Amino acid sequence: MEKVAIITGGSRGIGLSIARELGKNGYIPVITARKVEELGQAQRTLKDDGIDAYIKSLDVSEYANCKELVEDVLERYGKVDVLVNCAGITRDKLFIRMIPQDWEEVVKINLLGTFNMTHAVLKSMVSAKKGVIVNIASVVGISGNAGQTNYSASKAGVIAFTRSLAKEVGGWGIRVVAVAPGFIETSMTGKLNEDIKKDYLSRIPLKRFGTAQDVAKLVGFMVSEDASYINGQVYVIDGGLV
Ligand code: NAP
Repeated sequence: MEKVAIITGGSRGIGLSIARELGKNGYIPVITARKVEELGQAQRTLKDDGIDAYIKSLDVSEYANCKELVEDVLERYGKVDVLVNCAGITRDKLFIRMIPQDWEEVVKINLLGTFNMTHAVLKSMVSAKKGVIVNIASVVGISGNAGQTNYSASKAGVIAFTRSLAKEVGGWGIRVVAVAPGFIETSMTGKLNEDIKKDYLSRIPLKRFGTAQDVAKLVGFMVSEDASYINGQVYVIDGGLV
């Protein structure tokens, strides 16, 4: 029986690459995001690679949306084997210029969204006595970064959440891990100005930016049986940046 993986933020960037990687590894990817057109586009792209993905538009910061999605997936496929919490946003600004909304939006999507999806999925994993949850954090959640107090705090929260939940649910055979990417070329980093990009590049020992596929390969390993004794860990993938 095919395994089922829900990937939030699966319409583009890192999430779409993870959906492709897991699809190639025999999972049915269920991909979610807010923009319906982009989800449709992602579904067609995956179809071209021979992968049948199920798509659903939702906002991860809305608990009811997440509950509904999981009920729908359980009705359709009977289980959720893997959850990848990948939906995320940035609202970069120096802290002194930040308004409460910049903080709230980022924390609501990156951290509350991770709570919402995980909470919605967990009961079914506990009943099945198995499951893997991969949270996409960021190196700045470990190192901190000027201009990203909101984002780095949300990702540090995701890391602490990962470590704590792993201790709670390991006894039910559920693994919880985090992946912390450095600078990965996607639309999120595409909007940064050239000077910032140059500065990052000069600090990456491997002298290249990461690709969404670099991260997807790591997630593919993390959810596999080969990683069955890895739990509660945070894996940095940043070319040596931090
Ligand atoms: P991206 O290209 O901007 O993709 C973000 C994805 O999240 C999109 O599918 C987006 O779709 C979805 N999303 C955003 N807000 C959402 C919401 N409220 N509800 C549901 N879906 C939502 O970014 P990316 O670079 O692939 O980033 C993916 C993850 O990796 C994020 O968690 C990010 O923080 C993390 N990360 C990225 C980098 C990097 O350098 N790129 C580094 C470290 C960590 P909609 O806009 O349609 O909702």
